Amino acid sequence: MSNPFDTRPAIHAEAHKPSGSVFAARSTQEWQQMDAAHHLHPFSDMGSLNKQGSRVITRAEGVYLWDSDGNKIIDGMAGLWCVNVGYGRREIAEVAYKQMMELPFYNTFFKTTHPPIIELSQLLSEVTPAGFEHFFYCNSGSEGNDTVLRIVHQYWASVGKPAKKHIISRKNGYHGSTIAGGSLGGMGYMHEQMPSQVPNIAHIDQPFWFGEGSDLSPAEFGLKCARQLEEKILELGADNVAAFIGEPFQGAGGVIFPPETYWPEIQRICRKYDVLLCADEVIGGFGRTGEWFAHQHFGFEPDTMTLAKGLTSGYVPMGAVAIHKRIAEPLIAGGDFNHGLTYSGHPVAAAVAVANIKLLRDGGIIERVKTETGPYFQKALREALDASPLVGQIDGAGLVAGMQLTEDKASRKRFANGYEIGLKCRDYCFKNNLIMRATGDRMLLSPPLVMNKSEIDELVEKAALCIGLTARELGMV
Ligand SMILES: *Cc1c(COP(=O)(O)O)cnc(C)c1O
Repeated sequence: MSNPFDTRPAIHAEAHKPSGSVFAARSTQEWQQMDAAHHLHPFSDMGSLNKQGSRVITRAEGVYLWDSDGNKIIDGMAGLWCVNVGYGRREIAEVAYKQMMELPFYNTFFKTTHPPIIELSQLLSEVTPAGFEHFFYCNSGSEGNDTVLRIVHQYWASVGKPAKKHIISRKNGYHGSTIAGGSLGGMGYMHEQMPSQVPNIAHIDQPFWFGEGSDLSPAEFGLKCARQLEEKILELGADNVAAFIGEPFQGAGGVIFPPETYWPEIQRICRKYDVLLCADEVIGGFGRTGEWFAHQHFGFEPDTMTLAKGLTSGYVPMGAVAIHKRIAEPLIAGGDFNHGLTYSGHPVAAAVAVANIKLLRDGGIIERVKTETGPYFQKALREALDASPLVGQIDGAGLVAGMQLTEDKASRKRFANGYEIGLKCRDYCFKNNLIMRATGDRMLLSPPLVMNKSEIDELVEKAALCIGLTARELGMV
């Protein structure tokens, strides 16, 4: 019961007592057959997936998942970067149940509001940095970025500069998978399948020093990448550029942390040319780096923040856009804002978000990531992997890390078939009951923020084991 390394609040220990499943158990094979027959998965090649059969996850507790064969798996990805408070939090489930019984839905369109969304808005204004006092709600990060586009355009229209409509973002950035999210993102493989894209979006290079920095120092390379923004603004004409959007660190692109010089220079350029600075905090928000929001880790001040994932720890879907008052005030003064979703400010999602944020704040979860478990994780990972010839660099802060696989550390040489090597490593993770994601030739970890030190030891040990097995298969050790 009393593990000295368990730094989670005591409530967690008894938070999960399964009270019976919603659905009766079937055999793994039967589930897989039904899944293959009727379910199209996101970002998947369904032909080959159906031949293999999907892994069926049946339950979860704390930082562990169980599959339908009874395997206990340590979740190094917090679901999909979102289950910040860990699985099985009764405090959240009970709030959702109560809210469903009291008011499961009402809209916020026609001069109407309700307590959950009022309380959430108040709470968000407390946990976000000074100046963020207004919040618009949606159901996902993608919708959040669609909303950012709408807000940015409406803002410039309301201050009498409607020509400012071009948005600049980055190659290998990820901003979701709606048409606007996919257009803002810089994923080539997505663009290939999107003949219709949102116009007036331009992409500059990503600040990925290991892969693209050639012989510049990281500091020089950071400035060089940032100055591409200035070149692009001048090319389009500053009077035509509305905003720059970026993830403080790239998540789905491979947990790429930009050099320290990057964000201050981006901010300087945005201010100089009167271009809004939009931070996509969908992964970085709610404690991932040990700060409440990742832009605080990198030291810049955005005009809007896109929020989702950790906002509800994934217990139910919700997204939001936080709007700095320098943007919100002209927007409010500008009259009608013709945008909204049936579920903008959904009461159950709002109640869950409030319970989740209170756990993160009053349960001291984010503070612990900053002062204790984050530094512990970063140090343990480096101690375990610095000697590996396969790992060229580790990016990260708090409880997020990206490990670059390399053919030769000294020259930062990348594998020609890096994608396959990442998948090889991920296969070892599967076999060893570890969830670690592969993005090309980078291995990613982003565990629940409640992970304690002994669980971090297990996570790092397993990650090092799987990377070691990959290195051995490649004949590097
Ligand atoms: C996941 C993600 C999104 C999209 O969020 P969805 O909820 O999947 O629509 C947007 N931006 C970033 C940075 C993300 O990681």
